[in-house]
Amino acid sequence: MIELPKKLQNKSFRFIKIRKGEKAPLEEDWPMTNNYKYNDPDFNEYLKTASAYGVACGFGKLAIIDCDNKESAEKIMAVLPDTFTVLTPGHESPHLYFIIKDLTKKIVMTDNNKIHHGEVQFTGFQALGPNSLHPNKKKYGVLKDIPIEHITKKELLAAIKPFIKTEEKKKPCESGIQMDISLVSKNIKGLNPSSNGELQGPHPVHTSEGGTNFGVNEETNLWHCYRCGTGGDTIALIALLKGITACEKLVKGYFSTEEGKKDFKSALLIAKQEYGYRTPEEAEVEKQVKLARELTEAEIAELKKPKLIFNILREIQKIGVVGEEKSILALINRIAMRCVLNITKTSGNIIVLDDTGLGKDNITEKLCRIMLTESKTLFSTTCISDKVLNYWHPGTPETSWDGRVMYLQDPEEDTLKGQAFRVRASGDPKNATLDKDRNFHYIQINGKPILIITSMKASIDIELIRRWDMVRLDASKELTRAIVRYQLKEATKSKSTTDSNELLQNALKNLPRVNVVIPYGTELESLIDSDASIMRTMTLKLLDIIRASAALHQYQREQDENNYVLANKEDLAYAVFIINYCDILTAQALNKKQEALIKYIEEKFLATEEPVSFKQIIADNPGMSETWVYKQEKDLVERRLLQMKRHYDTGSGKDIKCFIPDMLLFVNIKVPKKLPGYFFNGLEKDINESRKNYGLNKIKLFDRSETR
Ligand SMILES: [Zn+2]
Repeated sequence: MIELPKKLQNKSFRFIKIRKGEKAPLEEDWPMTNNYKYNDPDFNEYLKTASAYGVACGFGKLAIIDCDNKESAEKIMAVLPDTFTVLTPGHESPHLYFIIKDLTKKIVMTDNNKIHHGEVQFTGFQALGPNSLHPNKKKYGVLKDIPIEHITKKELLAAIKPFIKTEEKKKPCESGIQMDISLVSKNIKGLNPSSNGELQGPHPVHTSEGGTNFGVNEETNLWHCYRCGTGGDTIALIALLKGITACEKLVKGYFSTEEGKKDFKSALLIAKQEYGYRTPEEAEVEKQVKLARELTEAEIAELKKPKLIFNILREIQKIGVVGEEKSILALINRIAMRCVLNITKTSGNIIVLDDTGLGKDNITEKLCRIMLTESKTLFSTTCISDKVLNYWHPGTPETSWDGRVMYLQDPEEDTLKGQAFRVRASGDPKNATLDKDRNFHYIQINGKPILIITSMKASIDIELIRRWDMVRLDASKELTRAIVRYQLKEATKSKSTTDSNELLQNALKNLPRVNVVIPYGTELESLIDSDASIMRTMTLKLLDIIRASAALHQYQREQDENNYVLANKEDLAYAVFIINYCDILTAQALNKKQEALIKYIEEKFLATEEPVSFKQIIADNPGMSETWVYKQEKDLVERRLLQMKRHYDTGSGKDIKCFIPDMLLFVNIKVPKKLPGYFFNGLEKDINESRKNYGLNKIKLFDRSETR
């Protein structure tokens, strides 16, 4: 016979039948129908033989606080008023009975550490009442036989606050820096794998009661503090661990606040210094630097010597290249461009034209071998198809083309016109799409090389001109004679009299890649005065040629506080020379007579601002027959070197055919009156001295008549 305690004999309360020897309800639907008042005859009959009964919570707003452990129960009891309390034989913690008018449902007590402390049982739940037998045969006893207290939900929540989740998970504090969190979290003590896939343990900065209020998720790369509800990414973790930012501040958006920006900077610095973090840009710089080994003191000394460019010229002369200094100067600069990190990528394209096919590969290849290392920074081939070009990569597909030179010797016209070639020549190649057996293949392209092609007769269209610089080798008889003379002279020797300068060559091969600043950039505006839209491209090119010169002379230039090499005006002299040498006329593979015709029309037009008629051309140029000039019309107009205009002639009273030069021809850079440095002031003299040895005429690097 079980006796129901007096304090439970409340008309509003309900009780239920329990299965023998268990804790589970005997009857189904007990929360709705099969429950009984304390004085229900059927229930009292049941109590006569039963070993246990259940107290159905929720009826009469009865709530039972059922704690899992003594510790949390004691803390709750300390806050709430004394009430009817039942000792449970299952575990040491008691059941606290309260009437809570505004409670609506059961509360599970799981704290921020995900530790379970028990439940506040309410509607739909029941607990064995006093004098019932636990399945372990021990009896539920009354610990405090006093009236059941009335409390509010607010009072309840205040009491159980440490044992429930205080707030929703706040959004994590993210910095935008992609950095593996395990690099930092591996040093935190006491983290162990938990069931939710996190590594959990005591908070490394503020204390932890449960010992697991801190979690790191290596999959999401985020950490979380279950006490503060805060968390964030790896940089936020560094800020937390290094005491830069307090735990409770680390929520979404913190790094955008004034205070947070400073904290972010400090944490990022530690990420770099202590954890070896590199931004993608910095990682790229480091990777590129590895293209080369470190220079020795002796090699650096070679790069510090005056007349560096002339010394490189001499290296190529030593291996049998005669003349062609202007083209070589342009190519030296272009190869050095691979060492400029902050480059406009389209600048790296150059075509070496040679009508006769005599010298281009000889010169280009020899220069490449002086300044580059085969299969490290130089990738050259004599025969490549458009498709194969797509798959070509330096080493592995992941290796970047940046900092390298791709040298295609006399590629087929089909290759030049192919998609792969266009992708390679474009400023920012990312991937190529191939249609193979009706399947599309995506090919990742990493970086962009300096692209040198040699061509016998480049059929370059005007679109390509914007992407390509051109140098044209001099196929003059004079030069041919000099080459023959050189070869005959060499045949008389058993060994070359001049040994190559290995130190200089190795220095060039391992020249570090650098960023370059042009401090006088804004001053350049006065040199560029064309309305032609091509000048936009040309200006970028001018800047990159200056940068390349500075990179080549990096051991002779100053650096700013960010280790950027500072270009000087000597680099400008080099650039002005190249821009004017590799101009549109040079590019067009014109014969001397065509060149003379265009020059004549250009000068006449600039002087008179009138279109130039056929009649006048023939009158002023005895060497140009009428038939010949008419023949040029189609050719040169098609190549956009000249424009044909109909012009009313007052003399004859008729419209007559006239020419004006195409706007593209006005593209050049004014040669400044005076520039400092060897390139502008001494190089020409040294070149002409050496030309004398080969019986070659003097050359001019700058057309000083154009000096403005
Ligand atoms: Zn915290």
